[in-house]
Amino acid sequence: MVNPSSLFQPLTEANTLSPVEPPPGLEGQGFFATTLDAAVGLARKGSMWPLPYATSCCGIEFMSTAASHYDIGRFGMERFSYSPRQADLLMVMGTISKKLGPILKTVYEQMAEPRWVLSVGACASSGGIFDTYSVLQGIDRIIPVDVYVPGCPPRPEQILDGIFRVHYLAKHESYRRRDSAEYKALLAHYGIE
Ligand code: SF4
Repeated sequence: MVNPSSLFQPLTEANTLSPVEPPPGLEGQGFFATTLDAAVGLARKGSMWPLPYATSCCGIEFMSTAASHYDIGRFGMERFSYSPRQADLLMVMGTISKKLGPILKTVYEQMAEPRWVLSVGACASSGGIFDTYSVLQGIDRIIPVDVYVPGCPPRPEQILDGIFRVHYLAKHESYRRRDSAEYKALLAHYGIE
């Protein structure tokens, strides 16, 4: 279980596997022991495939984040997936109308576990300036969100910071978390099986 307060610390940790004491007979040059959780977490963190769900201006900031100057490919994420089954990070960027909400929820439901959600910008997170009858006042009304990126629009640096925080969650999550009663209760709260 990740301590939420740790998300507000500078994310400076290296890509290490935190070796533990080797079992007898398995020590020696070229060998080290680690936990399955640590190995799976590192693999998930370093192979995340995003599904960009961009509906308006925040999506333009994402294009900048992906392009050569900020180069999201440095983090193994240049392969965007527009097929939910082959994506594990749903990035919602832009205004989501109430009419669009069920479509977004269907996309989330079609993603395989483990899946994470990054809410980019004020509109996706809270409806932003559009406090109107037609705009969803935050995507967390229909799907669970892991990390919120503030701003209208957020700069690419902020989007990268949000991605790093999702990476942190993925790296430190127990690979059994998705089977936990707590996680199932979270999905049940949203009416998702
Ligand atoms: S948060 Fe601002 S920049 Fe982003 S989609 Fe909404 S209005 Fe556009």
